[in-house]
Amino acid sequence: MVFKMKVSSKSKLLTCEGNNPTSKYYPGAPCQVRLEVSDNVVSAVCWRCLARLVPAPEEKKNQSSIGFPRGWQFMNQFVHSDGKVYQKGVEQPELFGKFEPTKIKESEPKRRKKETLDDKIQKQYYQKLKKKKTTNKSKK
Ligand SMILES: [Zn+2]
Repeated sequence: MVFKMKVSSKSKLLTCEGNNPTSKYYPGAPCQVRLEVSDNVVSAVCWRCLARLVPAPEEKKNQSSIGFPRGWQFMNQFVHSDGKVYQKGVEQPELFGKFEPTKIKESEPKRRKKETLDDKIQKQYYQKLKKKKTTNKSKK
């Protein structure tokens, strides 16, 4: 095999590496993104597939945000439900378990949206519309 590197001004369209199931960039479902690249480029990855490999900075959030209300770092004293006492965001190990946990007034996050009457009406309307369309087609 001979590898030649040519500097080319031509461009071509390449399908993202995420379209190849054996590639480490494969996102789980084939990625259909076409990328315009220089003619000598063998493979390319779109930004979505590349970004998927970068772990989201969730770990920090998950560890610290559970059971903490917004702005707890700024509270004079915040007692976590596990008994840890924080004063202005700094843990006070010597006060552990000496206070009642601070009640969090915030509403629960990530609540599932309830289906409203409007949604139901709209759903029914679209279903009727679909039925009408299909029956009209079969008549013709
Ligand atoms: Zn892709």
